[in-house]
Amino acid sequence: MNNNDFQVLLYYKYVPIEDAEQFAKDELQFCKSIGLRGRILISEEGINGTVSGPKEVTQRYMDHMHAMDKFSDLWFKINEADDFAHKKMFVRYRKEIVALDLDEDLDPTQLSGNHLDPVEFREAMLDEDTVLLDTRNDYEYDLGHFKGAIRPDIHNFRELPEWVRENKEKFMDKKILVYCTGGVRCEKFSGWMIREGIENVAQLNGGIENYGQDEQTRGDLWEGKMYVFDERISVPINHIDPVVVGKDYFDGTPCERYVNCGNPECNKQILASEENQEKYLGGCTHECRVHPRNRYIKAKGWGHDEIVARLAAIGETLPAEV
Ligand SMILES: [Zn+2]
Repeated sequence: MNNNDFQVLLYYKYVPIEDAEQFAKDELQFCKSIGLRGRILISEEGINGTVSGPKEVTQRYMDHMHAMDKFSDLWFKINEADDFAHKKMFVRYRKEIVALDLDEDLDPTQLSGNHLDPVEFREAMLDEDTVLLDTRNDYEYDLGHFKGAIRPDIHNFRELPEWVRENKEKFMDKKILVYCTGGVRCEKFSGWMIREGIENVAQLNGGIENYGQDEQTRGDLWEGKMYVFDERISVPINHIDPVVVGKDYFDGTPCERYVNCGNPECNKQILASEENQEKYLGGCTHECRVHPRNRYIKAKGWGHDEIVARLAAIGETLPAEV
């Protein structure tokens, strides 16, 4: 079924919000009352959200936001969908709308990199003197990224400033291009880079999401898919010549299927085909496979003998009973 009767909205705005904690409570009530789902973060510095629902519901939400003075120009990036992309509705009050945890915070409305529209960004990427930096996490990069982009070895956005400091020679005195999913991460991060003395920093306006939808770029130079933090997990970006860059965790073959390790204490997100996930009992390591609370084995309903046989097939055995 592909009705496209639903929409997923992605948006943010850095703008001072008074009594943000109360505003978050009121927004939660409103969103629930109209049947919207998703995740919205609200802080004194602004709003950052991704929500989903039937078109009439998302439209009502956009009208509701646009009716407020400070959000009258709020830019919603809209994606068609055939279902909700979220299970529940959360509106949370936070210190920051994207946690960067800088020692000294900064206001991206005062200091931020130049915004380049998709066409300008594409042109800048093709310039040989530029350095392209992906500001997202390693597992997001691994599913898809711009061709030639640097992959920071980070698992959380908060780790990025330290990583850049350690790799500063890659960036000083160069033209830097940064990008992220919808643009919100780069707003503050590009400002931070400038404050660090890396002066020539530009960011992709509206993020990868906007770049993929742009009529002229149509996702050109993007390889793989884009990781998203909702039930869809990934979305296509390149509508010209899509390629797969994700690799199966177990055998390295092309793969775009993210699963969580079956061991609830590990829960590592790995790319794996259905076949390999089954072959390796849903676990990312031997320890995870034989973990007594392996959720994958539980869901499959495999008994002791079947587990032993399946482990034997990959040359492993159950640990000796104590
Ligand atoms: Zn694991």
